[in-house]
Amino acid sequence: MLLNKNIYSLYRYQCLLIFYGKRNKTYSVVSALSNNLNSTMKTLIDSKEYKKALNLLYEHYDISTDFTKNMAIKACTKLHDYNEGHRILQKLSPTSLNDPYIQTSLIHFYMQSHKVDKACHLFSTIVNKSNPMYAAMFKGFITNKMPEKVFDLYDKMEIEPISVTLNVLFNACARIRNDRAKTIGKRLLEKHFNYDQNDTGVFNSAIHMLMRFSDVNIAEDVFHSMKNKDIYTYGAMMKGYNDNEEYEKALNLYEKMNVKPNEIIYTLVFNSCAQLSNDRAQIIGKKLLEQMPHIYRNNNIILTSALHMLMKFGDVSHAECIFKLNRNKDIICYNAMMKGYNENQIFEKTLDLFESIRLDLNDITYTILLNACAQLLNDRAQTIGKKLLEQMPDIYRNNNIALTSALHMLMKFGDVSHAEHIFQLNREKSIVTYGTMMNGYCMNREPLKCLNIFNEIKQLNLVPDEIVFNIAIGACSQIGILSRCQTVVDQIPVHMQHQLFIQNALINMWGKSGSFVKAQQIFESVSNPNIITYNSMINVYGLNGMGSEAIELFRHVPANERDDISYICALNACSHSGLLAEARIIFNQVPTKTEKIITTMIDCLCRLFLFDEAEKLIYNYEKTNSPYVVMYMAMLSGARNHRNSQLCDKIYNRMKSLFPDEKQSLISGAVLLSNVYSSVGEYEQASDIRSYQRKELGVKVKAGMSWTEINGELVQFTAHDHSHPRSAEIFAEFDHLAVELIQHGHTFDGSWITRPINNDETIQSVLCGHSEKLAIGLNLIQRPVPSIIQVTKNLRICGDCHSVTKLIAKIRQVDIIIRDANRVHHFFQNGQCSCQDHF
Ligand SMILES: [Zn+2]
Ligand SMILES: [Zn+2]
Repeated sequence: MLLNKNIYSLYRYQCLLIFYGKRNKTYSVVSALSNNLNSTMKTLIDSKEYKKALNLLYEHYDISTDFTKNMAIKACTKLHDYNEGHRILQKLSPTSLNDPYIQTSLIHFYMQSHKVDKACHLFSTIVNKSNPMYAAMFKGFITNKMPEKVFDLYDKMEIEPISVTLNVLFNACARIRNDRAKTIGKRLLEKHFNYDQNDTGVFNSAIHMLMRFSDVNIAEDVFHSMKNKDIYTYGAMMKGYNDNEEYEKALNLYEKMNVKPNEIIYTLVFNSCAQLSNDRAQIIGKKLLEQMPHIYRNNNIILTSALHMLMKFGDVSHAECIFKLNRNKDIICYNAMMKGYNENQIFEKTLDLFESIRLDLNDITYTILLNACAQLLNDRAQTIGKKLLEQMPDIYRNNNIALTSALHMLMKFGDVSHAEHIFQLNREKSIVTYGTMMNGYCMNREPLKCLNIFNEIKQLNLVPDEIVFNIAIGACSQIGILSRCQTVVDQIPVHMQHQLFIQNALINMWGKSGSFVKAQQIFESVSNPNIITYNSMINVYGLNGMGSEAIELFRHVPANERDDISYICALNACSHSGLLAEARIIFNQVPTKTEKIITTMIDCLCRLFLFDEAEKLIYNYEKTNSPYVVMYMAMLSGARNHRNSQLCDKIYNRMKSLFPDEKQSLISGAVLLSNVYSSVGEYEQASDIRSYQRKELGVKVKAGMSWTEINGELVQFTAHDHSHPRSAEIFAEFDHLAVELIQHGHTFDGSWITRPINNDETIQSVLCGHSEKLAIGLNLIQRPVPSIIQVTKNLRICGDCHSVTKLIAKIRQVDIIIRDANRVHHFFQNGQCSCQDHF
């Protein structure tokens, strides 16, 4: 305001003078008046009063000089007013048009008005081209996004570039950063750059360019050769260090700096400290924050960096304090705070802060909030997350980062169809968007859809990255069918095949699909195995019933490298192969027995019906910990295999009182319990439990599902599934088989039936409708019958299916692999299973 008033009084005073001048009409007075007009114009332009400057020119055009008109053109350039500028241009005399200053301003004016052709034409007519003219052309090409033209013109440049041109060229090279830019930038530095000059600005541009090229050493040489370093020199160096991830060097330089830091330096140092987050960074960062002058405390840019830094240090309360004190919070500041809460895993606070925002949200806000909701998954998060999605402006729907977060959140909510809808609407899908969708399908146990997206990626000629391959491998592990795995493996580029996390994923995939041989081959090809590699291989042995191999490999892993997962995998392997003595030895070696490790040991004991010992473990655990539902499930499952209905009842009642809210576990428990009652012939008890389960727990039991691959296509079956075109043949095949099975001594055991039998059903017909049997049946009616039949089941295989499959392998002389929720069963032609009936 003060400045404006001063200018106005100056202006009025000068008008008076001009009026006086008009009456006197002497040359010297006119000249003096022109000078006054020019200085008023300059003052107005310096204070960005461009319109007023132009009005002043028109009012006193007759005493204006080339200098005045030059300033008027600059004003038009600033106003982006092409018409106004053109009007002034029309009035220029041929002499004025030949004035080099006016010519330079005109080039600039044309370029900023996006009239590149006019600028080029004017430039070509100029006989004596100067450095400022070249600089105006270079700048113009950058403004008009024609970076290559900068270099084309530079190649034709007829004069030696001086500071003003070098400055623009360095900035152009820094921005374009391709090979040509790097060559030209370095040539300029070698041939035309004068290290003895005093123009600090051009040095700073050179440093900025070199840092952008990642030529940190050369930038340091330029820095050390400088006689006059200013605050921007330090800023360019520190930003360069940060961009090249040399944060310690940025702090070293900050500590040596002998100039007072400005806002840029504050921001840069906070960023370096945030990235490092080590002790030194925490000391420097916090000290700088204390020293920070008060004027910066409401500066959102500095403050955002400070918040980011404190959040990275985990100092949430300090960040909150600074945030509260800021009176001009903008959305970026809120974003920094919410992102910090997310990083510190305090997602509820992210939502609390969101509810207090009274500003428009931007795409980053949406991303942060959707991520918080995806992490929380509770009712509040689901409500807020879905509401946000509805409110999200359309422009963000094609923003890949916001979109990716939205997809991820919906997939975590299990809302697959909503995610699919949003995904289809998006028009510019990136590889990350596809990856998110694939991952979401895997999360929701829809591996087939995941692989469909994978195929779509390739049809679109997008290049799948390591993450996408890793997810596809994960989908194959879920499907568990060897031929399907091979199809994906054949597509993995060679350089990725040797990446450890891909190798680890492959070991897991082959193992879960029943090929421990291929898993072993990958394992042996790994040059630097980490603990995940070992754990994966131990687990593969365990899953495939190779307990001793698992233990041997476990013993091979140095004790100090073993983690919780190593113990769990080894104990699991013992449990699946009935290796009690080994399990006890391993369990006693565990340095810290976590709840999961104890649970695995309980499972191992219960599979061998050592319930007293298992109970003792639970009792000891609960002395110092709250009860853990999975331990009881392991007990219950063992008691069920033992057909011990009394023990089952006791465990289940305890579960009901200890874990009234663990609905999913109570349902599974109820199924097991009703199962055990059926198996001992107490059908009434069994049906009571089932009706209790339906009434009290409500939630549906997970439907059993099996899939198998026929002629390269995956076929999925539910129990009693008649949807397959050849289902009549499949059921007929089982009618035949049932006779053969009974001849070989099989009895269909009603205790494996977990639901009431309808009037039109028999024990045999119910059991023969199990999904894994239908999947096997489809294989058996193929001609020729496949040499290996492979089936994957989402739940545990039942005892009847297990015995029947053993017999089918023997009668039909075919190898069968069934992967269930727990392990891989290899049924051999001699009628044995690799699990030795420990299932
Ligand atoms: Zn079954
Ligand atoms: Zn088995």
